Amino acid sequence: MRRWKYNFRVRHDAEWDVDKVDMKCLGCDYEEEMELDVLLEIADPRAEEAPAVCCPRCDRELLVPRDAYDQIKGGFVYKIDR
Ligand SMILES: [Zn+2]
Repeated sequence: MRRWKYNFRVRHDAEWDVDKVDMKCLGCDYEEEMELDVLLEIADPRAEEAPAVCCPRCDRELLVPRDAYDQIKGGFVYKIDR
């Protein structure tokens, strides 16, 4: 997976055998979960901070992974542990 400025967690859904990401809108706080594959397919490839998609509630391209939301709103960046 490519790297953005903000890292985010991915959950594996064993029942459906897919990876999911909790998403949250920077504009209106709308939340939903998305499949990682879908997110990566539709996210704007020019985005540098985090993959962002169009929010179904406020219709702006501000729906980002919730971990990225927390970092952007909180003004910090998670370190990658490895
Ligand atoms: Zn929104």
